[in-house]
Amino acid sequence: MANKIYLDNNATTKVDEEVFKVMEPYFKEEYGNPSSSYSIGRNVKEEVTKARNNVAKMLGADPKDIIFTSCGSESNVTAIMNAVRNNPDKKHVITTKVEHASIMETMRYLEKNGYKVTYVGVDSLGRLNMDELKNSITEDTCLITVMYANNELGNVYPINEISKIAHEKNIYFHVDAVQAAGKIKIDVKDLDVDSLSISGHKINAPKGIGVLYIKDSSKFIPLVFGHQEDNRRGGTENTAYIIGLGKAAEMINDDNFSKEKEVEALRNYMEEEIKKNIEDIRIYGDLDNRTPNTSSIAFKGVKADELMLLLESFNVFVSTGSACNSVISLPSYVLAACKADLNNYSPIRISLGKYNTKEEIDEFVKILSNAVNTLRRK
Ligand code: PLP
Repeated sequence: MANKIYLDNNATTKVDEEVFKVMEPYFKEEYGNPSSSYSIGRNVKEEVTKARNNVAKMLGADPKDIIFTSCGSESNVTAIMNAVRNNPDKKHVITTKVEHASIMETMRYLEKNGYKVTYVGVDSLGRLNMDELKNSITEDTCLITVMYANNELGNVYPINEISKIAHEKNIYFHVDAVQAAGKIKIDVKDLDVDSLSISGHKINAPKGIGVLYIKDSSKFIPLVFGHQEDNRRGGTENTAYIIGLGKAAEMINDDNFSKEKEVEALRNYMEEEIKKNIEDIRIYGDLDNRTPNTSSIAFKGVKADELMLLLESFNVFVSTGSACNSVISLPSYVLAACKADLNNYSPIRISLGKYNTKEEIDEFVKILSNAVNTLRRK
């Protein structure tokens, strides 16, 4: 079997060796509880503090505004429930048609509980309809929640502009930045957001660790009550994972996006090679305003799920959309929102990471051309 070629880094990323190395002692030797007052607890607490500082630096935040959670989904749900519970008289929320399931499912819950939710649409390139967003604001709006970068298309949304619109009307603004972290610069103060989520496993830290940035903790209502995280998220800290995430953040801070520039060059090279080798393709999304690693590509007449399976038989891993969608094989609601012609052009999502090489991409393009030809001949 040929070497594995993993091209699904928006689903998850490999844990960096350096990240793994700093985590290891916290399972075996340094297993103290950071809340304990004796030394083996205090030492761990110090490392958790360092991790918090590194994460804060990555987001341009104050360390005191960083809350560690179990994942990006928990961060999103916590932020939304905090915003609506803090403003119980207002019953209208604005989001978009292209958010992650953790946002969408929370919206469904709110709808069942008396809230009206506006799902702002997108155009054929997946760009937000900003007029619709502005016009849907009412006296009753208590929250706007918009993702920074889309997981399927890579589209980057105008968070600055939306935060101005929200704050002019005194509306809470949450941002799901899970797909933006590590790929594009995030500065919560420049962006002027009220809260923002990220997830460890998208930035070469482990699965099961997330971060919620909260601007104003004075009014914060936790989802998980308890004393940890300054009374904002109960549960003994997941110390090894927090420390691993801190290392991943430190690496991003030190690298200052130079790796992402390489990833972008490789993604662009890959798209050019695909164009040269395969006829009749379509690349979805806002091509000039995407995260550097993502490519949503369709090959006329080829069904994405068949292509994905055929590629897997060559040890090549891509997806047909978000990881959650592809497991249950639903048509992509993101592409449906773009009114994509999915009968003729159903895309695979290729998302590169810092470990992909030019050799892998050359090999991938060969395998892909053969696979597309095979399926077109069927
Ligand atoms: N938000 C977006 C845009 C995502 O792509 C994901 C994961 O795929 C999440 C949130 C959820 O993150 P986690 O898997 O850490 O819960």
